Amino acid sequence: MEALLLIDIQNDFLPGGALPVPQADQVVPVALRLLDRFPLCVASKDWHPREHVSFAANHPGRRVGEVIQTPHGPQVLWPVHCVEGSWGAEFAPGLAEAAGRIDHVVFKGTDAQIDSYSAFFDNGHLRSTGLEDYLRRQGADTLYVLGLATDYCVRWTVEDALKLGFAVWVVQDGCRAVEADKQQQVLQQLQQQGARLTTSQELLPG
Ligand SMILES: [Zn+2]
Repeated sequence: MEALLLIDIQNDFLPGGALPVPQADQVVPVALRLLDRFPLCVASKDWHPREHVSFAANHPGRRVGEVIQTPHGPQVLWPVHCVEGSWGAEFAPGLAEAAGRIDHVVFKGTDAQIDSYSAFFDNGHLRSTGLEDYLRRQGADTLYVLGLATDYCVRWTVEDALKLGFAVWVVQDGCRAVEADKQQQVLQQLQQQGARLTTSQELLPG
């Protein structure tokens, strides 16, 4: 069965948010068009406690963009974003109103000590988010992935999905990268790892 997987389409990643991804607002209409095409729709939310390890503000003297070493490996420092329960962590405008069409929401990055780019596991692969179990219980074996951002959370999610044995399609026009010029390079790398690329137009002909 085919499932749609929407990655982190949240206010803080849109223009005007705390960690804006260029043109991120343009993925929302793509997600909305695809919601009705799939029998199962799952969305991830970046969902951090305020004391989260990924926030530069929690490391005195450190700046956004720096990389620190943690017991779980290197950690890029980001602005405070997607704090649990905050406006920034809510679904983006448009998707928020369509949330009733999303069957399941998976929360990631909920442990203060470790980040989680992938919607399946934290960055140390120590703990599962439960997404794999959910998808298998529903009978999903083929995933169509889109969202934010191509070079981080989409990438890590697709790589984990491939390793877990799912067939994975990346919806190119539904993804935007933090570093916009990395978009094509990352998509090609994912393709080399076994993902297939598609567009919303291919999925919704006419
Ligand atoms: Zn985050």
